[in-house]
Amino acid sequence: MTMIQKVLIANRGEIAVRIIRACRELNIKTVAVYATVDRDSLHVKLADEAICIGDHRLENSYLNHNAILQAAVNTQVQAIHPGFGFLSENADFVRACERVGITFIGPSADLIDKMGDKQTARETMIAAGVPIVPGSKGLIHDLAQAYQVAQEIGYPVLIKATAGGGGKGMRVCYDASLLEDAFNQARQEAFNAFNNADVYIEKFVEGPRHIEIQILGDKHGNSVHLFERECSVQRNNQKMIEEAPVQNLSSKTRKKLYDVATKAAKQVQYVSAGTLEFIMDKDENFYFIEMNTRIQVEHPVTELITGVDIVKEQIRIAEGKPLSFKQSDLKTNGHAIEIRVNAEDPDQGFRPMAGTLNGLHFPGGNGVRIDSFVYQGYKILPFYDSMIAKVIVHGSNRDEAMEKAIRCLEEIDLDGIKTNVDFQLEILLNQKFQDNVYDTTLVQTLLKGDKHV
Ligand code: ADP
Ligand code: ADP
Ligand code: MG
Repeated sequence: MTMIQKVLIANRGEIAVRIIRACRELNIKTVAVYATVDRDSLHVKLADEAICIGDHRLENSYLNHNAILQAAVNTQVQAIHPGFGFLSENADFVRACERVGITFIGPSADLIDKMGDKQTARETMIAAGVPIVPGSKGLIHDLAQAYQVAQEIGYPVLIKATAGGGGKGMRVCYDASLLEDAFNQARQEAFNAFNNADVYIEKFVEGPRHIEIQILGDKHGNSVHLFERECSVQRNNQKMIEEAPVQNLSSKTRKKLYDVATKAAKQVQYVSAGTLEFIMDKDENFYFIEMNTRIQVEHPVTELITGVDIVKEQIRIAEGKPLSFKQSDLKTNGHAIEIRVNAEDPDQGFRPMAGTLNGLHFPGGNGVRIDSFVYQGYKILPFYDSMIAKVIVHGSNRDEAMEKAIRCLEEIDLDGIKTNVDFQLEILLNQKFQDNVYDTTLVQTLLKGDKHV
């Protein structure tokens, strides 16, 4: 058992703030690290200590292993929480933490190797008997192999970066004549975003839903699932709105999802918080697409319906404590919806926007949670992800949660910066969303049909 008394948070933005708040409630001291341009960021203000680790370039700051480890050693923390993105699924960084005797709040480097890389995860899941999307057996090394594999699987196919995340490094291909471009573009985008151009090929499932299962495992071999989330509101394969639990799902499929996820967690002896992501077709056939071996952006919807604080549980698990509950202790209560608020302009192809937030009003009231890091006068920077807030609502049922979400987006006021709020409101008011009969093509359909093209 490691007693964790001080944690370094190797991230920024709302997730850094989220983690600092959990630590504070647990009486754990916090150390923020920040890039020079981030000195006015809320995570810097809220942490007990803050260390500047480099300039705005990611490799110099939030991806700078040495600077972060040096800050951790100097401030004598016992543990590092990576948040999401950045170093959260970087096995080399986890090994470096292990070498200097600092606990990484997340799975071991070996587990990340096994599950964090998509192609390897597919192989691990096959061994665990989990259904996966039909696709290539391993990485695709050249164009000739790509043609052959795509032919075998049958078009349309999806070329995917093995290191992918946030919807990047993915290209659909409907026809062999377009394969060369798709293959090259996917590789190039993957290399730019992840410094790894490796790709594999999957069958492209048309109009699927994205359904995922949250799991938690401790270092004593216990694991549980925390039910499911629907994340089918997506633009460019990136989630925009998430909800939990999934209402329009047969109990048979739901149970099968839980069984598969629990079996997978046991099979790999998963430790910490993780998510198994699936796509599901109209007949409720589902296929594993990837595992996220970290806390996720949408974790709050699960927290609201289960009452479990997933970040606190991650910390307890890292300390070596057993899970604080058994599967049979867990129940869902009501319905939760999360809306990602991004500083971006829907009228300019969702181009990220930087600038000063002159005025700010966040909605509140019964069943409303805001996870954010912006404040009035804060200058939104062009160097980082455009997500600036998450509005999360909880109601006794889906309709009530939806009404609350609509009310919140009508009330929110972000002055001085363009955001996706009106577009998100349009989605919430869309009949298909209201009737709960939507899939991952919903946003694309909306964009085709109106002014936002
Ligand atoms: P990322 O790491 O970027 O999150 P994922 O593999 O989770 O990548 O895929 C992101 C999204 O892309 C999915 O939620 C889904 O909407 C879409 N997608 C992924 N794989 C497929 C597939 N084989 N067929 C159709 N859509 C897919
Ligand atoms: P999730 O898989 O948690 O649903 P996404 O894949 O949509 O979330 O987005 C998470 C991605 O956001 C990360 O993998 C990374 O590319 C990017 N990201 C990294 N750091 C941050 C941050 N501080 N705030 C928002 N997004 C971030
Ligand atoms: Mg994903």
